[in-house]
Amino acid sequence: MKTLIIEKQDEKSLMAAGEIIKNGGIVAFPTETVYGLGANAYDEAAIKKIYKAKGRPSDNPLIVHIASAEDVGKVAREIPENAKKLIERFAPGPFTLILKKQPSIPDIVTAGLDTVGVRIPKSTTARAFIEAAGVPIAAPSANISGKPSPTKAEHAIADLDGRADAIICGENSDIGVESTIIDVTGEIPVILRPGGITKEDIVEVCGAAEVSKNVLTGVKETETPRCPGMKYKHYSPDAEITVVEGGRAQTAKKIKELVAKDRENGIKTGVLMASSNQFENDLYIFEGNSNGELAAVLFGALREFDKNGIEKAYVQMCMKDEMELAVKNRLYKSAGHKIIYVGE
Ligand code: AMP
Ligand code: MG
Repeated sequence: MKTLIIEKQDEKSLMAAGEIIKNGGIVAFPTETVYGLGANAYDEAAIKKIYKAKGRPSDNPLIVHIASAEDVGKVAREIPENAKKLIERFAPGPFTLILKKQPSIPDIVTAGLDTVGVRIPKSTTARAFIEAAGVPIAAPSANISGKPSPTKAEHAIADLDGRADAIICGENSDIGVESTIIDVTGEIPVILRPGGITKEDIVEVCGAAEVSKNVLTGVKETETPRCPGMKYKHYSPDAEITVVEGGRAQTAKKIKELVAKDRENGIKTGVLMASSNQFENDLYIFEGNSNGELAAVLFGALREFDKNGIEKAYVQMCMKDEMELAVKNRLYKSAGHKIIYVGE
């Protein structure tokens, strides 16, 4: 398949992308969380193309993207009070609400569930594209299944050139991890996947919030998680990832020891750690000082390791703040839960 690479985000280009959606095509597009791969949410044949292009298991539902809060009722048949409050306070923004679905949303979008994930992205490019399409856009992340989600146009091109009808090359995703998934069908909001809207944010608005189990642990084969995506091994680059967790100085010391030993054995190693550690000869030194900043570069770093043929990589996990849960959730999965704890 020839993929149209859309370099500009002017009205004409986004109208062309919208036209591809109307004609049953699939289009990758930027959002503030990660790049998405979208199709008309009402078009079953188009949705099938998404699963095929990504190699995505059919029991893992997609999120339906709309341009404005006014359209929630087109996708969901009930909008509980907590949903209204979260939309009022944070939309458009990096979160997805799990709501009872409208019958018009096909089963293939929701993998047969009676609920649907609804998201209003903050990215103006994303919203202009959805408006141009004139229909809700069902979209998972724009990566080959199992690979880190794309946070730059070049990542989406690397995975989907030849598999999607078009790729809109927009801004880098500044949040860098996928949306917070919040189930608001019950009394208390439940975070099924942590992200840019934190537990503290939700508590501030709704008075309470719970975090689903499985957010930091693996899902057993016999379990059915509330968020089907949780059971899949995600975000895994070819490099073997190890998380080194604990105090800043202690983790830095441990990583230096591990890397020295691997390099003695001729293993190509990489690290992702804070720049203040002054670690020389490394592939990836991260320049921030918060988990939010780490989230923004995380998936790009994992891809960078593969591009450079890194066999083993160590990631420093030493910061404590509201985004810690979102970063740990992705890191633990990419490491297949291989974590070395050192002291604080
Ligand atoms: P992705 O955008 O690629 O991260 O994929 C969408 C994520 O949303 C997957 O982890 C799905 O399991 C999750 N999801 C979508 N719809 C629902 C739903 N109705 N209930 C629970 N999780 C959902
Ligand atoms: Mg995904």
